Amino acid sequence: MRAVVSLNSGSSSIKFGLFMLDGDRNPQPGAAGKIERIGLDPRCSIRDASGVSLVEKDWFQDGAALTHADLLSWLFEWAASHLAGHEVIAIGHRVVHGGIDFATPCLVDDFVLAELEALCPLAPLHQPHNLAAIRAIRSIAPALPQIACFDTAFHHSRPALASRFALPRALHDEGIRRYGFHGLSYEYIARQLEQVDPDMAKGRIVAAHLGNGASLCAMAGGKSVDTTMGFTALDGLMMGTRCGALDPGVVLHLQLQMGMSAKEVETLLYNRSGLLGVSGISSDMRSLSQSDRPEAQEAIDLFAWRAAREIVALATSLGGLDGIVFTAGIGENHADVRSRICRRLEWLGLEMDELANAANAALISFPDSRLKVRIIPTDEERMIASHTITTLFGPRP
Ligand code: ADP
Repeated sequence: MRAVVSLNSGSSSIKFGLFMLDGDRNPQPGAAGKIERIGLDPRCSIRDASGVSLVEKDWFQDGAALTHADLLSWLFEWAASHLAGHEVIAIGHRVVHGGIDFATPCLVDDFVLAELEALCPLAPLHQPHNLAAIRAIRSIAPALPQIACFDTAFHHSRPALASRFALPRALHDEGIRRYGFHGLSYEYIARQLEQVDPDMAKGRIVAAHLGNGASLCAMAGGKSVDTTMGFTALDGLMMGTRCGALDPGVVLHLQLQMGMSAKEVETLLYNRSGLLGVSGISSDMRSLSQSDRPEAQEAIDLFAWRAAREIVALATSLGGLDGIVFTAGIGENHADVRSRICRRLEWLGLEMDELANAANAALISFPDSRLKVRIIPTDEERMIASHTITTLFGPRP
């Protein structure tokens, strides 16, 4: 059976999904897995579509020297011997940055790879790892088509104003602008919403992707109109370890008055802030909600307040608000955080059904609530698979 693989290659992990093409060329999940702790003691787990474990492998200490390329080679060998009968016809990659020009997924060739390479300074923590995986697969299987799917692409539909900082024009022209991220997740949510609630999908919606990384997207008729992440994935909401929107004067103060280096500030803002920084306990929302320490509660409150505040800001970009969709680890599973956010929006006519919310139901607002609130599980891997198939074969008639 023909199959495509989605790959999401990060600094210390590689996540992947194998999807079979059904008769209508829809991607059907076959297996999914991840290799984590790359550079330390890598471990790999792979499960089939029903959740049955296919691989649990540890490389322990002797794995510290294994690179992304080594581990991808191992994965190819494993796939060749264990997935006999499936022909992988293409690999789709999550590529964090498509810059100004890449508004749709595309087949990677030498020219595209060079263009994407030039965007590395815009996403130095992610883009190089995304591209390293593409290069590694080129050397393992040079003839295999590879498709780049961009986290920024979905936000190309925003009005021009939404991409501009109040900085001198020349900087905007050089690419210092608000791009927005999590686009593959939002595109998936927009498509799912069209299936589950076509009327809601036509309206003015804020989708809340609340995971370790967190952002919001204002969507009108399924298209992005505004989003909270900007030039980098640091902006907007408070996250697991990232600070979200911050007075830029703080960055200047840390460097000029407190003598921190740029690298130290980077580590502070990306890795030591957010839920972890405020609580001093953990970056993990579930762990924080199990703690009775006041710092943990304050971190959760700050997370919820900031999210509610930004939802209202995005309502201005939409000219009103008809509904909210929660997704990702916290958005899909954490009833208390959803409740804390929604309680702050009651003045907008949001009436949350707390029982439905506690059960993580698909619809968590009452039928007569002016704002409709839904939970839709995201699936970026499936979105990548779908783009990969469409890029190979063209849109379905
Ligand atoms: P990533 O951005 O790394 O993909 P996820 O979408 O997996 O992150 O979200 C991770 C967050 O979701 C963590 O804060 C975690 O505590 C929270 N989370 C995951 N599962 C649950 C659950 N069942 N209940 C409550 N919180 C959860």
